[in-house]
Amino acid sequence: MGRPKKLTPTVEKAPPRLPGAMDLLPEHLVSWDVCLEKLQTLSHTFGFSKIETPIMEDARLYSFWSQGTDQLLTFTDQKNTLIAVKPTNIFGLARCYLEYHFADREKVSKWFYHSPVAWMNSAGETKQTMEFGFQIFGQTAPIADAQLINLLLKLFSELGMPNLSLEINNIGCIECQPAYQDQLRNYFKDKKYDLCEESLDDFENNRLLQILACTNLSCSTVASEAPVIIDFLCENCRRHFIGVLEGLDELGLAYNLNQKVIGKPWSKRTVFEIRMRTEAGEWLLGSGGHADDLIQGLGGLPTPALGFSTTLDKILSALEAANLKFSTKNKVDVFLVPLGDLAAKKTLRLFTELWNHNIVASEFIGPGSIKTQLKLAESNKVAIALIIGQKEAREGTVILRDVRSGMQELFTYERIIEEVKKRLGR
Ligand SMILES: [Zn+2]
Ligand SMILES: [Zn+2]
Repeated sequence: MGRPKKLTPTVEKAPPRLPGAMDLLPEHLVSWDVCLEKLQTLSHTFGFSKIETPIMEDARLYSFWSQGTDQLLTFTDQKNTLIAVKPTNIFGLARCYLEYHFADREKVSKWFYHSPVAWMNSAGETKQTMEFGFQIFGQTAPIADAQLINLLLKLFSELGMPNLSLEINNIGCIECQPAYQDQLRNYFKDKKYDLCEESLDDFENNRLLQILACTNLSCSTVASEAPVIIDFLCENCRRHFIGVLEGLDELGLAYNLNQKVIGKPWSKRTVFEIRMRTEAGEWLLGSGGHADDLIQGLGGLPTPALGFSTTLDKILSALEAANLKFSTKNKVDVFLVPLGDLAAKKTLRLFTELWNHNIVASEFIGPGSIKTQLKLAESNKVAIALIIGQKEAREGTVILRDVRSGMQELFTYERIIEEVKKRLGR
């Protein structure tokens, strides 16, 4: 026999997760699963179908995408095509809409998704998370905006999130935004020295709406006197926006007109954010709005696009801030208590047989004395325990114990299922 052999590790120590990456542990996923369940149910009620696009696409698809100093995660494949990991879902969805000619198939395509996204942040860390959201392509009346917001407020309030608020704005379209941007440029030109470094950079690079969104106190003070976009909207934008607000009124949904809400770099027209207030502060639950130039920007016909997206980390931190915890534990009908190895083996068969009769049995893996097991059954409010000791295992019998009264009876394997069903009233 000799000395036992020792394995040499392949790596000295398993490397930790990458900075910026996140593991989703069972305790996180319980809440996430509850979210997804609600998401699926509401999506179907509101007529959205689920869609999934690949994690990687030709990098040219993301030409519209820019998020400050964040960068795409890219690599070149063997055919020399630059490939990028999707940083957000909307572009893949737009490609799908075009590639499969959805415009010829239906007037409106209404989709929901939850899918991983990744990018590189300014610190050079790979950020990865799950994004979920809704996307509508095609002819949409302003009531579609109101209805989408209605769905979202329902989703978050059903999750138990308190003090929800809707911040809404209209940032204009390709027709009316340029004139407004000119006004903003003139306005900020004289006030450059009151702007924070980042906003000054935005000014120099013509990202003028970005200055309005800056939360720096000095920038906010300057921005509060700035020209207001509402005064510059073209007739189409104005009519659409009034339609959205009227729809919200009709649904009895309160909103705040908020100039600081400017959407994404690819946003146009109506943009909005849903926020939650707790004692600890304000939480952004996600943002949405129109991206009406997107399909045309990717070579398609002019097509309105309306959507909302948020990420797993935003939702999880909001749930934590609101002190909301979920549990998806299955209701157990009977508790299995095997004593010893042979009994454990027999319990495997019993578990399966119970399962075949739609009776949910507890997990029985792991050690524990009969006393602790029965205590566990009691605390889980399980009325029936099935005990198999060594003797029972050999003789093919099972002890049925009424957990509350402590009364015990012996049954054969053949009879036990019927007896359990009878006691469960099935
Ligand atoms: Zn316009
Ligand atoms: Zn600023």
